[in-house]
Amino acid sequence: MDSLLERVSALQDFTPVLIALYDTEDRVRYANRAFREAFHLSEDSFPTWVDIIRMNHRDRVGLIINTKDFEAWLLSAQSRRGKQPFRGLELDMHDGRWIWMTETVETDGWMLCVGSDITALRQNQRSLRQDRDLAMRAAQTDELTGTSNRRFVFAKLACHAEAVDKEMETPFGICIIDIDLFKGINDRFGHRGGDAVLRDFVKLAHSTIRRPDYFGRIGGEEFMLVMPRTGLDECVSIVRRILEKVAETRPFADYPDFSYSCSAGVALYKAGEGANELYHRADRALYLAKQNGRARLESVVE
Ligand code: GH3
Ligand code: MG
Ligand code: MG
Repeated sequence: MDSLLERVSALQDFTPVLIALYDTEDRVRYANRAFREAFHLSEDSFPTWVDIIRMNHRDRVGLIINTKDFEAWLLSAQSRRGKQPFRGLELDMHDGRWIWMTETVETDGWMLCVGSDITALRQNQRSLRQDRDLAMRAAQTDELTGTSNRRFVFAKLACHAEAVDKEMETPFGICIIDIDLFKGINDRFGHRGGDAVLRDFVKLAHSTIRRPDYFGRIGGEEFMLVMPRTGLDECVSIVRRILEKVAETRPFADYPDFSYSCSAGVALYKAGEGANELYHRADRALYLAKQNGRARLESVVE
């Protein structure tokens, strides 16, 4: 038995796992080598948890405490510490490590703390998260112009239609914008010239729309703008500003006389009609704009 305990004791000082035992006054009564090193405790000191945290904070060692108001932080940490039989928490350490610390509280109030280094795990998670973010961005982005793609902007449209149906959102409007006589631009400047016009248009649109608006390329030279919480007059004036900018732009420095135009169809969502119906109404308005001579905006209310 003795030799077993000796073995455990020797291993406790050998393991990189952090181990400490606190009494009911929250004073360290036992701490292994890894724990003492992590929190900068000398071998013969038995401070309280508050002492440790104060000393760590003062010397910028041990636990990283990101707060402007240290006393308030301490109070709130104390109010959660050792209140339940078991909990685990992540500690961010000055030496760069992440520690997963568990607290196990006995019914008489003594508490065992065991902490493991999870830095490597966290880093794997971080690169997974980064990969996921990149993949998400790629799935939502139109490669040619860098704006949102059809999938993304239609998903936003569906989202807003549903929110209005559930009366969680006020009405909104959408606009379909199509570049006029784009085939002719391709014919004159080649496909790459056409691509440059698409990018020019996207840049102008993004410089005009508001931050909560969603804009995306839904087809070759066709775009959709979703304007949350916006009435007809405001929708129309936003789209007009885009058309005005398009009228002024000169995308090819070598051809200062060349300009292009677009046509736009605006429609407001009617609760219950569904995203597709709204899209078709906006598309019909766009068709009207084309019929009425292009380079203009038409809107439908019902
Ligand atoms: P309208 O004013 O009636 O819209 O006439 P339009 O010529 O703009 O319309 P149409 O739909 O007949 O032609 C669109 C053209 O856009 C046809 C297609 O070759 C071209 N297009 C589609 N995608 C791209 C693209 O990614 N890059 C370029 N450069 N052209 C594209
Ligand atoms: Mg067109
Ligand atoms: Mg088109």
